[in-house]
Amino acid sequence: MQQELLFKVLVIGDLGVGKTSIIKRYVHQIFSQHYRATIGVDFALKVLQWDNDTVIRLQLWDIAGQERYGNMTRVYYREAVGALVVFDVTRASTFDAVLKWKEDLDSKVTLNHGRPVPAVLLANKSDQVVSQPSKLDSFCRENGFVGWFRTSAKENTNIEEAARCLIGHILNNE
Ligand code: GDP
Ligand code: MG
Repeated sequence: MQQELLFKVLVIGDLGVGKTSIIKRYVHQIFSQHYRATIGVDFALKVLQWDNDTVIRLQLWDIAGQERYGNMTRVYYREAVGALVVFDVTRASTFDAVLKWKEDLDSKVTLNHGRPVPAVLLANKSDQVVSQPSKLDSFCRENGFVGWFRTSAKENTNIEEAARCLIGHILNNE
């Protein structure tokens, strides 16, 4: 018998960091240079055969146009079990905003017993820099991220890996 698990995962971070591109790449295997900030909340479904007896339906929630306010409503966060927090390695201000997004997340959704939902940090657009950002291991430990990845939606780098890392932590909380 196969079990099927549905997980709601949020993709948050400042405007233009590549949230929509990461989702499109991961779910539809496409990338576009065209910048499109649609308004509203959108979600995409990724179905994964996790192991022999587990199918995971990952519902990825995108925010569109509302990230400029730096926080989201509780409705958006409700029943989320994990998050990808994205910044753009070419724009330092988007890294500065990471902690604000993490606080917004932790203040609006928790697991049972008040534990924070697992969050993975994505250093996106890594295809655009020669010198990579310094290691973020201690930053993650100090600020409650379960891990981090240098990603590129353009070159399809590390997005699957980041999602697998997050899912592993979500499953540990089941
Ligand atoms: P969002 O506002 O966070 O959803 O960001 P978008 O996904 O709309 O991306 C903003 C811009 O950055 C678009 O022009 C994308 O093509 C571009 N972009 C997104 N991810 C990458 C990436 O990994 N590498 C490069 N070079 N550009 C990217
Ligand atoms: Mg977007």
